[in-house]
Amino acid sequence: MRRNHLRAEYRAPTVSPLPRGADMVRAMIDTPHIALPPHDWPAFPPGLVWLVGAGPGEPGLLTLEALHALQQADVIVHDALVNTRILDWRRPGTRLEYAGKRGGKPSAKQRDISLRLIELSRQGQRVLRLKGGDPFVFGRGGEEAQTLVRAGVPFRVTPGITAGIGGLAHAGIPVTHRDVNHTVTFLTGHDQTGLTPTEINWEALAKGSPVIVMYMAIKHLPRIADELMAAGRNAAESVAIVSNATLPQMRVLETTLGAAAVDAERHGMEAPAIVCLGSVVEMRKSIDWLGQLRGEPPRDLDPLQRGGAAEAS
Ligand code: SAH
Repeated sequence: MRRNHLRAEYRAPTVSPLPRGADMVRAMIDTPHIALPPHDWPAFPPGLVWLVGAGPGEPGLLTLEALHALQQADVIVHDALVNTRILDWRRPGTRLEYAGKRGGKPSAKQRDISLRLIELSRQGQRVLRLKGGDPFVFGRGGEEAQTLVRAGVPFRVTPGITAGIGGLAHAGIPVTHRDVNHTVTFLTGHDQTGLTPTEINWEALAKGSPVIVMYMAIKHLPRIADELMAAGRNAAESVAIVSNATLPQMRVLETTLGAAAVDAERHGMEAPAIVCLGSVVEMRKSIDWLGQLRGEPPRDLDPLQRGGAAEAS
């Protein structure tokens, strides 16, 4: 139903913001092909770099502002995690540049991407830098923005739905629930060198955060799980691993902290994946809405009341 609704949006083009002079000619050639609701959309002048979050994967989770930028851009510099179906929504004639980059690669490549953004801006292009999820959440958007500031390049930022929140929502896991947690911590399992970040205070993390949402954690899961257990977290605590969240090939593995690394390997859980530790994972037993829409009944209407967290092993 939703897909049909999206398709229905391919109709009479609108141009925004109102073009003037030479831009008028360009705008008439570059008419966007998906209508956006009338709104005072931000301008995308030549030379501007627009850092935009594309969300976790499902194209419908793109923001309207991101779609607006997509339809105005001359060139889109995109990451590996950006769904190509989203790129299909660009206007005809917009060039694509792949800045493929996965966690753990040397940071020199990041420098190349930032320099390329500066170069394209200086050529007078309207540059869309499209990143998976939110550009400022483990997405190096902050570094790119700093490089642009230093180079005197004008830019703007559009946030996106981050995988560690929106991806878990698709798996029926709320990152906060009043019965479980008043804090949540986001963690990356990789630093610039590709290793588990050394500055993490595991003791403080284990004690201070009932729910821990981990990005890029599959590779180092054995080490991460060991650190958390050594710092006092219970091996029986619930863990969910959600790969390709929000996409048709999404997979969710429910396990425990003690078994997570072995289970991830055994079930072939691959990146991109989010690992969530904490009792909110139990909530999936009642609010796995995707499962329920497919006709699977809830497994437990009130998991925590029944001691679900303790039973999780
Ligand atoms: N800026 C992104 C994160 C980039 S780091 C964001 O806000 O979501 C890349 C990591 O994000 C992946 O290794 C994985 O941990 C996570 N990720 C991104 N998309 C994902 C998806 N569709 N499903 C599960 N995890 C995802």
